Amino acid sequence: MLNQTLTIELLKKDFPIFSRKINDKIITYLDSSSTSQKPIQVLDSQEKFYKEYNANIHRGVYKLSEEATKAYEEAHKQVASLINASAEEVIFTSGTTASLNLLAYSLCKTLKPGDEIVISQLEHHANLVPWQQLAKQYNLKLKFINIDSECKLDLKHAESIITDKTKIVSICHISNAVGTINPIKDICKLAHKHNALFIVDAAQSVPHIPVDVKDLDVDFLAFSGHKMLAPTGTGVLYGKKHLLENLSPFLYGGDMISEVKFEDSTWNELPWKFEAGTPNISGGIALGIAAEYLKKAGLENIQRHVKEVSEYAVERLSMIRGLTIYGPKDPKDRAGIISFNIEGIHAHDVATILDREGVCVRGGHHCAMPLMNLLNIQGTVRASFYLYNTFDDVEVLYNALENAKKVFNV
Ligand code: PMP
Repeated sequence: MLNQTLTIELLKKDFPIFSRKINDKIITYLDSSSTSQKPIQVLDSQEKFYKEYNANIHRGVYKLSEEATKAYEEAHKQVASLINASAEEVIFTSGTTASLNLLAYSLCKTLKPGDEIVISQLEHHANLVPWQQLAKQYNLKLKFINIDSECKLDLKHAESIITDKTKIVSICHISNAVGTINPIKDICKLAHKHNALFIVDAAQSVPHIPVDVKDLDVDFLAFSGHKMLAPTGTGVLYGKKHLLENLSPFLYGGDMISEVKFEDSTWNELPWKFEAGTPNISGGIALGIAAEYLKKAGLENIQRHVKEVSEYAVERLSMIRGLTIYGPKDPKDRAGIISFNIEGIHAHDVATILDREGVCVRGGHHCAMPLMNLLNIQGTVRASFYLYNTFDDVEVLYNALENAKKVFNV
């Protein structure tokens, strides 16, 4: 079981980066919300692809191309099974940003001026800027669900702004900036009651907790491969089959077509209708391997382990004088993301001092500038935990923070 130190140590051996030292210190990696580290299985799969069967997919009849096509299609199945979808509902993209832009561009053009889109004050720029800009282009109205003082969504406010005018509701499952776990099912029901489409930015949830698209009943779900052990430049857009069938393609070109004439074209079957051009084949295959790795480790186990370590971190960090933690107080509303500030030290300075100890944390606005403005702060220090983090990492973080306070004399 993952919560036994021995097993974490074994599992950590899968991640070659942890054998590296920085400033003669072991790496204490607490920035998995930005991107996760990659296990050897994922790295090997990329090397194997380029060394043994590199070829373009869906085109060649020769052995190499057949092997590449088979592995790339298998990866869609592996990812689909992770979220309880079917492979045709899983579109590979370059990440959450690409998935959400695909939706914003494709859906907004189907709306009428005055139609409304609802997001929340918690959103990452990737789930805000596309809607903001497309809303301007098509004269749509963008509304925001308020948050309370603990950065939890105000559901009463959500009920008041999601109405029959609302056509799209797009909300993050887990906030990357402050770790809030949103009541996705409740908001989904609310959106559907008003016949609005419900989209989930699952960048911080799919890597960390079991996500079942059928159980949640979401219409679309976006996430990034690189935050779930896969290479950068990989990601997913899930959509319910009938919705994807009715959605027009976003990018036009090779592979996404069925038949092309000089005058017009018809589209390939799902999911290829949305994967124009040569995709990130090696990355996609490695994403499938990452999904298998997570299934084998068990998302419930990962969730429990991250919860234990991060709750311990909250306990330890709360002992530091002058340290404020943002986000929900109740552990059941918070994921393994701890956002904080130390009075008298800028978040970037904390991150820089921690780097000297081999501790990797983020300092800044975490791509949530409106949220930071609302909290009346420039940014926070963010420590985010994943399956390879240990209780020892928490101690290293604690000591490094006490040290930073000494350096800054606060
Ligand atoms: N949404 C959330 C909640 C995120 O945490 C991130 C990445 N920090 C994104 C969207 C964007 O993901 P990507 O950069 O992989 O496109």
